[in-house]
Amino acid sequence: MPNRPQPSFPEADTQHYWDGAKVGELRYQTCTDCGGKVNFVPTAHCQTCGSPNLKWNVSKGDGVVYTYSVVRQNRIPGFQELGAYAVAYVDVDEGFRMLTNVVVEGDPTKEVKIGQRVRVEFEKQDSGDYPIPVFRPV
Ligand SMILES: [Zn+2]
Repeated sequence: MPNRPQPSFPEADTQHYWDGAKVGELRYQTCTDCGGKVNFVPTAHCQTCGSPNLKWNVSKGDGVVYTYSVVRQNRIPGFQELGAYAVAYVDVDEGFRMLTNVVVEGDPTKEVKIGQRVRVEFEKQDSGDYPIPVFRPV
């Protein structure tokens, strides 16, 4: 099982997001003061208008690869045993772009593609209770 670094708490802005990951939900915020604009990454105030009136929502977890890069070697603990892996921006269907990983069984340089449809999954970690949201091609 992967052994990625865990979030540090207390963390007021992202606690609800990580609690969602624990129950298999990809949560994001929308602002109730500027027309329902999506606010991601989670923050205490809307990144567009500064309002504190943000509503939590649950994404269906589907999206498309906007772009990606393959890391061939990473010596940071929690990543060094991964081998080559894809770091990607995924455009989630509800309207936010998320920095994440696209996980494939084989060579990520061949199996990950820009424009590819992907779906979130929550990768359990040996390092703690909070799974990491990653995406897999569908
Ligand atoms: Zn706003």
